[in-house]
Amino acid sequence: MRLENRIALITGAGRGIGRAIAEQYGREGARVAVADLTLESAQEAVEAIQQAGGTAMALAMDVTNEKAVEEGVKAIVDEWGRLDIAIANAGIQHIDPVHNLAYADWCKVLDVHLNGAFLVTRAALNEMYKTGSGCMLYMGSVHSMTASPLKSPYVTAKHGLLGLCRAVAKEGAEHGVSSNIICPGFVRTPLVEKQIPEQAKELGISEEEVIRDVMLKHTVDGKFTTLEDVAEVAVHLAAFPSAALTGQSIVVSHGWHMQ
Ligand code: NAD
Repeated sequence: MRLENRIALITGAGRGIGRAIAEQYGREGARVAVADLTLESAQEAVEAIQQAGGTAMALAMDVTNEKAVEEGVKAIVDEWGRLDIAIANAGIQHIDPVHNLAYADWCKVLDVHLNGAFLVTRAALNEMYKTGSGCMLYMGSVHSMTASPLKSPYVTAKHGLLGLCRAVAKEGAEHGVSSNIICPGFVRTPLVEKQIPEQAKELGISEEEVIRDVMLKHTVDGKFTTLEDVAEVAVHLAAFPSAALTGQSIVVSHGWHMQ
């Protein structure tokens, strides 16, 4: 097991990519705090981890709520004594062209991705600095590197996370904290399933065309990235033994983006 006895917080882990990482971390021996908007949404993932023999706790944590984030991290440390790994994964999408985008929608996307990641980072670092070690991971995207139409707040937020990741890598080094960002291509989670019909409508094409000609057009093999692919990278980064790997972005996208 590659993460034996490590203590991990994963935000937005009630479903999708976060849940897949949480379950894989559980199998790799980590104790996992599954955080999501409500306790109920986190509980199902916790039960799956426990049924597979792992250890997990559910946390109600809206990452845009400063108090909820601080209290969630405190609950982990009260229960398990420290925090070793934190993954700022919670995210939302919004499809609209810039000229039609409501300011409230712009703010909401930036709030969850950027302000949420900041709050999780600050709370986590304050615990990691006490033990002199830790691993911060961010859920970026190929949209941290490139842009697509109709997703301006998401693209902006994901580019912003690169900056936060790198700043934390610089500051965290002297405290034994590494910081890296995972940048997946399209993974078939609810976040992506929702935008297939939305994009079809906006672009005036079929859903099949959205998948083939928009989402997977630039991959080397026309394939979606899988939950397992992303979870494996998240294990690898957290298990990596030194600070040789810090401040890096790892793109998992079937060659959609090559850096
Ligand atoms: P998802 O919609 O399946 O899951 C997102 C989870 O985040 C949900 O459980 C949701 O309740 C939670 N969440 C939303 N707002 C929250 C908040 N304010 N506080 C706490 N939790 C909140 O989406 P996903 O595809 O699993 O996405 C997870 C992350 O991966 C996101 O950051 C997303 O941008 C990123 N990502 C996804 C893809 C993809 O193709 N699916 C690709 C690249 C990056």
